[in-house]
Amino acid sequence: MSRYKARICLFCSKPYSPTNGTQKYCVPCGPLVIKLQRKTWYKNLKTLNPDKYETIREKGRQKQRKWYLSMNNEDKVAYMEKTKDARRLRRKQEKLLVLDILGNKCAKCNYNDDIRALCIDHINGDGYLEKERHYEFIKEIIKNPTEAKKRYQILCSNCNRIKQDDNKEYPTATRLKEKYNRDSEKWLINYYQGL
Ligand SMILES: [Zn+2]
Ligand SMILES: [Zn+2]
Repeated sequence: MSRYKARICLFCSKPYSPTNGTQKYCVPCGPLVIKLQRKTWYKNLKTLNPDKYETIREKGRQKQRKWYLSMNNEDKVAYMEKTKDARRLRRKQEKLLVLDILGNKCAKCNYNDDIRALCIDHINGDGYLEKERHYEFIKEIIKNPTEAKKRYQILCSNCNRIKQDDNKEYPTATRLKEKYNRDSEKWLINYYQGL
């Protein structure tokens, strides 16, 4: 029996028997609340004190690097597989969310048999700009679905390929042009001959 009277947890509102006089949360909730508070503090720090935020972040990165380097090769491979799987799963979940937002079928031919053959198409053909942002646009679609519907649509791989050809969207060439800011066709021809 605890020598303190039973209290109500301030987080989950369930009664529990405390182990000290100042305890506010039950045993399962305590660490959770601390984690949450830390997370909020860290999030606010980003705007309040960017320098400190960056220092803490860099420290975290170094710690992780050190931890990673301390592992043997077998553990490294296992870790890589685990994170890869997690990333793949997250990507898939994100794709499902985005497909839901944009209508779950090809905007041209209504194909919807297999989501692997559905892609997110930039209606204005400015996708090559997005690729530079490492798929940030997926997050933006999820955050702002109404705005996203004006800019993005779903196309099946066939319709997407045909649209690319019709509109003369050649992503790599356009992107390279944009990147190096050289508009001479000659330069591109030289570039491809050099490959
Ligand atoms: Zn609780
Ligand atoms: Zn289609």
